[in-house]
Amino acid sequence: MAKITRKPVPRKGAVPKKTAKAALAKPNAPAKKPLRATKRWTPAEVHEAFSRFRKANPEPKGELEHVNPFTLLVAVVLSAQATDAGVNKATRALFEVADTPQKMLDLGEERLRDYIKTIGLYRTKAKNVIALSAKLLSEFGGKVPRTRAEIESLPGAGRKTANVVLNMAFGEHTMAVDTHVFRVGNRTGLAPGKTPLEVELGLEKVIPAEFMLHAHHWLILHGRYTCLARKPRCEVCLINDLCRWPEKTV
Ligand code: SF4
Repeated sequence: MAKITRKPVPRKGAVPKKTAKAALAKPNAPAKKPLRATKRWTPAEVHEAFSRFRKANPEPKGELEHVNPFTLLVAVVLSAQATDAGVNKATRALFEVADTPQKMLDLGEERLRDYIKTIGLYRTKAKNVIALSAKLLSEFGGKVPRTRAEIESLPGAGRKTANVVLNMAFGEHTMAVDTHVFRVGNRTGLAPGKTPLEVELGLEKVIPAEFMLHAHHWLILHGRYTCLARKPRCEVCLINDLCRWPEKTV
């Protein structure tokens, strides 16, 4: 009797060997480019970049509205995972009635919630703002403290909050790393890092002291309006000749 040979039936969903091999060896597939720049900037190049930022915008301002260090602190605490525009919309009315820790306590958590209910995580944030107002009154004479450790000890305030307050309210040379600064630090190669802290320390190391007061705002504004997350506007970028990003479009 003739021997019957059967073709093997592929398992449902299995990728035929030939196709799988071809996919791995795709000769025309674009090679994956590294996401981070590798070549370090020279001190002269860093100086040149920040000179250009300074020339274009000598007095950059943050976009979180506030009227004193306390309202700045509250605005930063409210801005976690929210946009500055969204926070400003809520705080304009809030700061008219509560621009000091005492007035914030007098307003109370429930009414505060009403003012900020358009901001994400508003329940937790309202709790924190009331608790930090109480702590400012009981431990700091109703004033925003001037050291990092003291600011970080306040409910809802972390390292980024302390850096923003120390820089904007007290003129210290701190570098708050938000999503924009993190992206710009990595893409440009100015200060590559896997965490905001790594990028913060890297930027502090390479940026000359003469630029540090405004460096935080220059980098935020650069990330927000030019070095956009999805489609950076490299063609109008002030530092496109210096930027190390392998995917820059100029
Ligand atoms: S050249 Fe492009 S990627 Fe580099 S900093 Fe400018 S906008 Fe960002």
